[in-house]
Amino acid sequence: MSTVTQPAPVVSVDPATGEVLREFECTAEAEVRAAVERARAAQPAWHELGISKRLQVLRRFQTLLHEQKSDVARVITRESGKPYVEALLTEVVVALDAAQFLIASAHSLLRDQRIGHANLVMKAKRGWVVREPYGVIGIISPWNYPFNIPATEGLVALAAGNAVVIKPSEFTTLSVLELQSLLRSAGLPEALFQVVPGAGATGAALVDSKIDKLIFTGSVASGKRVAQAAAARLLPVVLELGGKDPMVVLDDSDLEVASSAAVWGAFVNAGQTCLSVERCYVHQNLYERFLAAVVEKTGKLRVGNGLDPQTEVGPLIHQRQLQIVEAQVEDARAGGARVLAGGARLPQLGANFYGPTVIADVHHGMRLMREETFGPVLPVMAFGSEDEAVHLANDSEFGLAASVWTSDRKRGEAMAARLQAGTVMVNDVVSCYGISEAPHGGVKSSGLGRTHGRFGLEEMVRVKYMDSDLLPRMRKVWWYGYGPEFSRQMEGFVDFLFSRHWGARIGGGLRALKAYFRRGWL
Ligand code: NAD
Repeated sequence: MSTVTQPAPVVSVDPATGEVLREFECTAEAEVRAAVERARAAQPAWHELGISKRLQVLRRFQTLLHEQKSDVARVITRESGKPYVEALLTEVVVALDAAQFLIASAHSLLRDQRIGHANLVMKAKRGWVVREPYGVIGIISPWNYPFNIPATEGLVALAAGNAVVIKPSEFTTLSVLELQSLLRSAGLPEALFQVVPGAGATGAALVDSKIDKLIFTGSVASGKRVAQAAAARLLPVVLELGGKDPMVVLDDSDLEVASSAAVWGAFVNAGQTCLSVERCYVHQNLYERFLAAVVEKTGKLRVGNGLDPQTEVGPLIHQRQLQIVEAQVEDARAGGARVLAGGARLPQLGANFYGPTVIADVHHGMRLMREETFGPVLPVMAFGSEDEAVHLANDSEFGLAASVWTSDRKRGEAMAARLQAGTVMVNDVVSCYGISEAPHGGVKSSGLGRTHGRFGLEEMVRVKYMDSDLLPRMRKVWWYGYGPEFSRQMEGFVDFLFSRHWGARIGGGLRALKAYFRRGWL
């Protein structure tokens, strides 16, 4: 008798206290397939409902989320550890704003679009582009923004007329269930947004199921595995992967502002943000003063349970993440870097707490400057010239976002153009994610495709070109009936279209015209 081993359940744990919040059975492969089938069966009616009615559901969702903002933020804080106010601002508000963007813009962005024909012989046609939903969109999401990532990606998929099946991170199922519950209360039929809890194997089952497109957000390693599986059946994917975002502080920047930005940018969500400042390059003239400022500000941060309104930095999500951070810091320390703040666990607060850390005199031979850290660590390095800063910032396998700091906006924008990243901010960090109109995504190993804004909406639709001929009773001149004379006529036709000389164009046009009266035209 064969025994089928049931995978261990996934568990939502409060990372600040270690309290088990809830366990979820992993969704088996057959159940994932069944969820996708239910989604497929329900999707055509959702599409046919039309954009206005779909957006009404989003509007009701927005109202409910606004009303329940505090409860939702508390669930996010308990499950992910981030301070309550961050759950409110970087999760709930981002989702509210994403809904607002869609309510305001999806109608016009999804509208059919006329395509004009420059080519003279194509003038007798009417052409337009139709945007059709893919059908069923699979979403696989991470734990670091457990509400806003499923919300921003899910809402745009739904607005475009798709159904969604989502595999949340194994660490943060509760936050996604909040989203599901709000959508259902807003009137969305159950089959259109289904959550399949589980770990990597459930995610792999979703990739192998009959979804029509996958939006994956997670690490580069998992993203590559997912892309390989997707390639086997040409499943289109968007990959939102890791980052190692550089912050470049030029010699004319406001030291007070730039140092505050570095501290917030590196430690928001305990550094577990794909867009967090992971490398900081400071002009040598400012270097020591900048270090003094960030060390002083870091020393004032209150670390603790995110439910305490005083808390500015919460715990890491789990021990494995903490060990990655610890190993990178120790590698830098062993390599001669100066640890100026933090650099150690805070066991008195709980098992997952790590002190906000500032490290100076790092270099690109260190893991800390090459691998994603995803923890509360701010490594700072000096540079001499702008060229050197650009070289250092671009010397990475990642390319999610970057920032340039200067009092001279033009100078900042000129440097921004030289940085290899999906987003470059001049005098700000991280906040680009909160701009619903702005495309989000990376270059190099940071990913493929875009979420958010118009480009995110375009990822949720298939573009179909519609072409309607205005002269249905007329054969096309290029159809059969070939021969030496026809070849000469068509040479004339090419001259008519593209010759630089008017004489040749007119002569070519007259020759081409004869093709309409040729013998043997089929
Ligand atoms: P992860 O790659 O470990 O997991 C992400 C998701 O993929 C989880 O739901 C996981 O269960 C699933 N998964 C794992 N293996 C899979 C497989 N073989 N097939 C299908 N699904 C699989 O990442 P994480 O630790 O949850 O999240 C942190 C990472 O996400 C960081 O690298 C961070 O930079 C990145 N991230 C990127 C963005 C972005 O927008 N670019 C946003 C947030 C997080």
